[in-house]
Amino acid sequence: MGSKGRAMGRFSGFRLFKEGLTGNRGWSPHWRDAEPRSDYDIVIVGGGGHGLATAYHLAETYGARRVALLEKGWIGGGNVGRNTTIVRANYLLPSNQRFYDLSLRLWERMEQDLNYNVMMSQRGVLNLCHSDGQRDAFIRRGNAIRLSGADAVFVTPQEMKKDWPFFDYENARFPIKGGLLQPRGGTARHDAVAWGYARAASDRGVDIIQNCDVTGFDIQRGRVRAVETTRGRIAANKVGVAVAGNTSRVMEMAGLRMPIESHVLQAFVSEGLKPILPGVVTFGVGHFYVSQSDKGGLVYGGDLDGYNSYAQRGNLPMVEHVAAAGVSLMPMIARARMLRSWGGIMDMTMDGSPIIDRTPVDGLYLNGGWCYGGFKAIPGSGLVFAHLLATDAPHPVATGLRLDRFRRGHMIDEGGRGPVPNLQ
Ligand SMILES: Cc1cc2nc3c(=O)[nH]c(=O)nc-3n(C[C@H](O)[C@H](O)[C@H](O)COP(=O)(O)OP(=O)(O)OC[C@H]3O[C@@H](n4cnc5c(N)ncnc54)[C@H](O)[C@@H]3O)c2cc1C
Repeated sequence: MGSKGRAMGRFSGFRLFKEGLTGNRGWSPHWRDAEPRSDYDIVIVGGGGHGLATAYHLAETYGARRVALLEKGWIGGGNVGRNTTIVRANYLLPSNQRFYDLSLRLWERMEQDLNYNVMMSQRGVLNLCHSDGQRDAFIRRGNAIRLSGADAVFVTPQEMKKDWPFFDYENARFPIKGGLLQPRGGTARHDAVAWGYARAASDRGVDIIQNCDVTGFDIQRGRVRAVETTRGRIAANKVGVAVAGNTSRVMEMAGLRMPIESHVLQAFVSEGLKPILPGVVTFGVGHFYVSQSDKGGLVYGGDLDGYNSYAQRGNLPMVEHVAAAGVSLMPMIARARMLRSWGGIMDMTMDGSPIIDRTPVDGLYLNGGWCYGGFKAIPGSGLVFAHLLATDAPHPVATGLRLDRFRRGHMIDEGGRGPVPNLQ
């Protein structure tokens, strides 16, 4: 898009004021609805957060020009618009932490980089612990986080009571022994992230092609030549796959079996309440996490539904399980009504950590395995996947996120649970 289109889509205080007075008729679409061309240098499959951020960085950071992003549905229809929007960088293992630390730093400048209000709100992420052993493990993790250069503070129950007076601190089964707080963690508005990256990528010449389902790969002598789509064959020198919950299905079309299972994860929103939650909190025993949106709804979630599925909806037993965990932590939310729930398909690897790597097929690259942690990874993943696609070398912070680590035994088993995807 030329400079005119770029100027048309930009926001400023003056522009908002002017459009407010003139009926908001001067805004143009945020991104071009591009028609597919017959060939590109790089094709990205999947228009979620990871695909969009990758396309943006290919154009902005690595100067790639002939780039297309193919999305089978619409931008924002996948997990990027279905998550509970928690952003953090509080991992124990270096292979994860250095990647998520980069990602959090990119979150902190995203609004300036994209000129888009993604409502990034660093209201803090507090992980609660409920036993002496869990407290020791949290303190160890906090020290590792601080050594990595990120922030972590251990908070005692007494210190917590000022901001969080309504926790059930003395619960006989799950007494609160403290919490690990990351003040720089928080939340962001999920679909704004998709729209911001889509607009920025389109402005820089990326063709964003919606309603374009990739149905196969043309692979000749071990090298990818093109993708087959519902809108025709599109040739490409390189293809980057970033399809989250559909990773196994798409990679199977290239003849590759993935160390990934797909699971359903649900999210829930309550009726609007007065401001009660100052930040994000996670319950350390029942797998419950919650924050409060700017409209007042409690946005919360819990465990995976526990069975493999490609359906973007969950089942009632998990609704009950998550609600019970929430009430164990904060009995006073028992009377709040749940208004909405939905599900997303999660791509869970055998060790629960992501993959950003080349594949055994030349010219075919993989970005996947994000499971329930991939929203916070979006800016970092976009940068390092673009680096890999542009240079053919892994980005320094992603050298551990290899596809063959399962074969070599170099797992990144953050939870220490072994190769059991539904427990990660
Ligand atoms: C309920 C829920 C809560 C979550 N909460 C959090 C959280 O609080 N914090 C956090 O960090 N993460 C969270 N996550 C995880 C996070 O949302 C995902 O890991 C991340 O969004 C996945 O990457 P993506 O945005 O690229 O995926 P998606 O948005 O799913 O993008 C993949 C895209 O690929 C497209 N696609 C699939 N197959 C094809 C094909 N054949 N051809 C073309 N396109 C195709 C899909 O239509 C989809 O749009 C949550 C997820 C869910 C479901």
